[in-house]
Parts: sequence; structure tokens; C-alpha cells
Amino acid sequence: MPNHIFGRSTKGTLPTAVSGEGCYLIDSTGKRYLDGSGGAAVSCLGHSNAAVRAALHQQLDQVAFAHTGFFTSAPAEQLADTLVAHAPDGIERVYLVSGGSEAVEASLKLARQYFLEIGQPQRHRVIARRQSYHGNTLGALATGGNEWRRAQFAPMLVETTHISPCYEYRDRADGESLEAYGQRVADELETEIQRLGPDTVMAFVAEPVVGATAGAVPAVPGYLKRIRQICDRHGVLLILDEVMCGMGRTGHLFACSEDGVSPDMITIAKGLGAGYQPIGALLCSGKIYDAIAAGSGFFQHGHTYMGHAMAAAAANAVLGEILNTGLLARVREQGEKLDAALRRTFGQHPHVGDIRGRGLFRGVELVQDRDTKAPFDPSRKIHAKIKAEAFAAGLICYPMGGTIDGQRGDHVLLAPPFIITDDQIDELVSKLSGAIEKALA
Ligand code: PMP
Repeated sequence: MPNHIFGRSTKGTLPTAVSGEGCYLIDSTGKRYLDGSGGAAVSCLGHSNAAVRAALHQQLDQVAFAHTGFFTSAPAEQLADTLVAHAPDGIERVYLVSGGSEAVEASLKLARQYFLEIGQPQRHRVIARRQSYHGNTLGALATGGNEWRRAQFAPMLVETTHISPCYEYRDRADGESLEAYGQRVADELETEIQRLGPDTVMAFVAEPVVGATAGAVPAVPGYLKRIRQICDRHGVLLILDEVMCGMGRTGHLFACSEDGVSPDMITIAKGLGAGYQPIGALLCSGKIYDAIAAGSGFFQHGHTYMGHAMAAAAANAVLGEILNTGLLARVREQGEKLDAALRRTFGQHPHVGDIRGRGLFRGVELVQDRDTKAPFDPSRKIHAKIKAEAFAAGLICYPMGGTIDGQRGDHVLLAPPFIITDDQIDELVSKLSGAIEKALA
């Protein structure tokens, strides 16, 4: 049979997934794969969760889709209420979309429209960080830090500049306290705002825990608070992208609540639908919503599938599982166990430079030399070899190469389902260890 799919499976070399059971995916040959990264931090409840399946069947029997230009729906209303009830202070409105890039794209447009409505049309610039991924649509792509992803599409539609991420393993100076480091790196935002001209800057966008591009690198304590102060000083909106680290992944429904920060907007997706439905959301403050309500009264945006009843029903069931069955505490507990197992196995490894993360969002960074932290030569493609070896051994994990500047090592991102057991943590770490040894051989 010819392969007509245009995308990652074009080569026709991928196995066919046929079923899922808890933390495992099963292919058409019967081979089982432990889902150590929830795909890409998506499958937070594992596969074939009974409550989500039941909710989807029930919703399908009622109504699947009713266009939001004509109707609202009970699942969409319920979802917005639950998200706002658990969101950081000041977050009052929810805009439902179908994924992470759409949520980020909507946040950029909402920021722009907000400043138009309040009579500051000159504010259009975005500041983000070099180590970041915010999606693949044109606005989100402009915001992400990865130069090679952007290069062929330049010039970008959104004018964005990039400052340093908060990455203490790489960038904290000898003898510098965590607090001093956090302030120093946050102060790059102040410098950049001054350089661009404070009244031209619209928003600062960041992931509280950097996911795919860095391997679960959390902000150090105090960093995001300092960022919040700088944004407030200059009237710049703070947009936190929790598409990967949100929805309980760090042990808190919203990762930024651990940092004690209330942003102006939060983007979520991935774990919100947990893989059962494509869904994302943009959450925003009452201040932003009120400015638009008092002005033109209408956010100039919209997607056909926004607020889809099936997607919202899945998300409600996912949130029900996360919030009502003790899963957040479990994420923190199993996250500590995963961290301990990683440290037992790799703590003395000559090529493991750093083990970090929060909750069930963990990263392992590989280096050529532990003392100098020099990364492996990118041409060795260590990350790709780890991915292939792990997959062959029946483990799904999420390795990525160092960045283009050559300053960051290959890393492996781990984001298993929240239901992972102690034995499955051991299986994950032991298979990962085998894959790393083969990749380095
Ligand atoms: N933001 C972050 C932090 C992400 O990790 C991703 C996806 N990896 C996105 C945005 C884009 O989400 P999607 O792939 O659902 O468009």
C-alpha cells in the first residue's frame, strides 16, 4: 500500500499504534511501549482512562458540536468555571481553542488588541527567551527561541527579541547564590525593555519550566517574581506558556502557582485533553477582558472548533481525575521517586551533567565532560540515538539535541502519566540507562 500521510510517518517506517493500556501503548505486532514521556507531555492520565472514555461516550450521545457563533455548551461552561476556580489570582476568563500553538497565537493577538483598545497602539514588540518553544504557527514560531526553526520563514510577523532563559546548571556563576542568579538573569528583561523602548513592548512570554527545548528546566526561586515586577514597572503583559508544564505536570495544576506569580495570561493544552481530544485554552485576567469589553466589545479572533463540546467534555473528565482523585499529590510523590531513581542511576555517570525538574516533569542533560559541562558534538546526534535505542527497548521518551549555539547538551525529557507505579519508574529508568549506554558506545 502506498503511504499517503504527509508528515512524520512519511518514511513509512513507524509502527502502527493499535491500543493503549494505562502507561503502555501497544503496536500491531503486540509490542508494548512504556510511555515515559506521555508522547510529548500529553498523556497525563495514561491510555484508555475509564472516566474520560465514559464522559466522551456520554457527550457523543448528546451533542458533539454546536458552533460557538450560535451556542454555548454545558461542557464548555463547566470547563471555563473549573479552570478559573483553580487559576492564579486575577485570571477570570477562558478562551477555548484546539491546541498549544493556537493558544499562544491567540495570546499574542489578545495582547495586541488590548493595547489598541487602551490607546497604546505603539506597543507591539514581544520579548521571549532563547531556550523556548511556543508552537509552530507564525506568531508562536516568532516567539520561540529556536533560530533554525524560524530561519526559513523570516521576516517574522511578530517582532520578537530573545533574552537568556533561567538555566542555573549552565549559567549560574561559581559562588553566586540561586537568588542572586535569578535576579541577575531576570534583570536582562529590564535591559531589553530599555533597549527597545518601554512604551513599544507589548509582552514577555516564557515557560515557567522550560520543556522540549531544554529538558524540564525550572525557574529558580524568585526569578518569576522579579520578572513580574519588571513587567509591572513598564506596563508589559506577562504571558506564561504552560502548554507543556501545566495541568498538574509539576504537581500543581498551574506550574506558576509554585513560583507565587500571577501572570496576565496563561496558555495551556497537551495535558488538558490528555490526548483524548485536541484542546487548548488561553486564560486571561479580568483587566484584559474588561478593556476589550469596554472598547470594541469583541476579540478579533476565532476558530471553527473553539469550545468543541466533545473536547470540553474530555477536558472536564481529565480535570475531574486530576483534581478529585489525589493525582496532584501523587505527581509530587512519584516525581520525587523518579528523581531519586534518576540520581541513583545517573548521579555519578561521567556523561550526565544535570538531573532536574519538578513533579513528573524531569530532564537529564548529557555532556561530553562533567567538569567543563562541554556538550557532545552535535554531529554525534546522541539524542536521536537515545530515542531510537529506547524505542527499540520499548520505552517512549523525549530526547532533544543541544541548541544551535552549541552551549547546551543533548537532553532527555521525561513526562510519564501521573498514574505511573514504582515498578514502572524502575522499568523507565533501567530502559533509559540501557539506551544511553548504547547511544554513547
Ligand atoms: N508551547 C509549548 C511550551 C509547547 O511545548 C508546545 C508543544 N510542544 C506548544 C506551545 C505548541 O503546542 P501544539 O503542538 O499543541 O501546537
